[in-house]
Amino acid sequence: MVDLSFLIDPVYIATIIIFIVGLQRMSHPLTARSGIIWAGAAMLIATLVTFLTPDLTNFALIAIAIVIGGGLGYIAAKRVAMTDMPQMVAIYNGMGGGAAAGIAAVHLLGTTTTVTSSLAVIGGLIGAVSFSGSMIAFLKLQGWMRPRPITFPAQQVINMAVLILAVISGVLVLLQPSWIPISYTALLSLFFLLSLGFGVLMTLPIGGADMPVVISMFNAFTGLAVGLDGFSFATPNYAMVVAGIIVGAAGTLLTIMMARAMNRSITNILFGAFGATEETGTEIHGSMKPVDADDVAIMLAYANQAIIVPGYGMAVAQAQQKVKELADLLESKNIPVKFAIHPVAGRMPGHMNVLLAEAGISYDQLFDRDEINPEFPDTDVVLVIGANDVVNPAAHRQGSPLYGMPILDVEKAKNVIVLKRGQGKGFAGIENDLFYRDNTRMLYGDAKETIGTVVQALKKL
Ligand code: NDP
Repeated sequence: MVDLSFLIDPVYIATIIIFIVGLQRMSHPLTARSGIIWAGAAMLIATLVTFLTPDLTNFALIAIAIVIGGGLGYIAAKRVAMTDMPQMVAIYNGMGGGAAAGIAAVHLLGTTTTVTSSLAVIGGLIGAVSFSGSMIAFLKLQGWMRPRPITFPAQQVINMAVLILAVISGVLVLLQPSWIPISYTALLSLFFLLSLGFGVLMTLPIGGADMPVVISMFNAFTGLAVGLDGFSFATPNYAMVVAGIIVGAAGTLLTIMMARAMNRSITNILFGAFGATEETGTEIHGSMKPVDADDVAIMLAYANQAIIVPGYGMAVAQAQQKVKELADLLESKNIPVKFAIHPVAGRMPGHMNVLLAEAGISYDQLFDRDEINPEFPDTDVVLVIGANDVVNPAAHRQGSPLYGMPILDVEKAKNVIVLKRGQGKGFAGIENDLFYRDNTRMLYGDAKETIGTVVQALKKL
């Protein structure tokens, strides 16, 4: 057979460039979809060209694995609801970490040099932690495990002890001293078991509301593990090295940005067991006051400006098209409409931006927290559509589990209309006294339906 392996490295370099273009396109909602396609195409090309590797064995097994894995991934991604996307990201990311750990294990069971096996041990540790930690994140987000932090006495000490034991066993895997009473394979298995155990233990005390940050951190871990694995081959695999580093860097940046958006340190997120305790000593006074669609339409018709705050409930209701219809109708009546976007609204970074872009809402109408917060006091009507935690004034109250999280200050607006189905709490499970305030009215029902009724009522005015 003709040896075409000279093509591998140049094609890898080309795919690296395509990965970078894809990532750059993902940084803006309007080009994000095409960014995913670019990156996916790069991955496909990199995978195909790897088949040109000389002396590749188990060709059929690899092909079968790709068909099964790719097929399952395709079906799952097609079927997943937009709102279940974080779980899917968690599980796919975990698979990446698991694969990186698997590559490291195969490497450590074969012929190695000190340098390559050191890299494989580090990659294996990080990949295994990312795998088991992401699985716990998946179970929590899927609701198959209690989302609240799971804590127990001396937790941090036990976690640290398991990590230290994992590191020690990794060092022993490298040194292979003669006094070890167990076989090399048993030692390697122990190393991976301890690493997997640490991933589980470090994720248990992290609450559901912090999961986005944690998933993003595990994503960075997976990237790092893949990058290290890429170096651990006799001839480095440049596509793995660069793709791994890109994922590692992007994941790290996203982790930092999300932690900043919640005004929390990474240490506090990882070790603070946020949400384990309920807020105590604060009683909410007043009652929730319902309003009907006709009254909302009248308030909007005479408003100086309307600000729409979308949240997770808008995604559940798939109300974005109706929201666009309402915004267009208001603009046609010379009532300016702005959208206030909180960075962790919904269930994944950029969730609201993607939904609103899908509905054709202009990017110029979207404002981030710092831009829009000064405008609330002078705004006649704010429509809170299926948002809860991101508008919870408890964040301003010392002693609240949400204390310090930057929120959208909608409570300062003249009138706040909250569209939700009933008394449901937000993701953090904390009561929201915004709903009981004198300037707040509740428009109950599925957001798509209630906005539809408001649109009808507005058209009649
Ligand atoms: P929340 O999850 O806090 O609240 C959503 C609200 O929507 C609920 O109170 C619910 O009330 C209402 N709702 C649900 N379905 C509908 C519907 N069909 N129609 C109308 N309302 C509905 O949402 P936020 O966006 O305010 O906050 C996001 C939360 O998710 C934050 O705590 C964040 O940390 C967390 N998170 C964010 C991720 C991200 O990356 N963005 C990822 C994972 C978690 P009711 O049941 O009464 O209708």
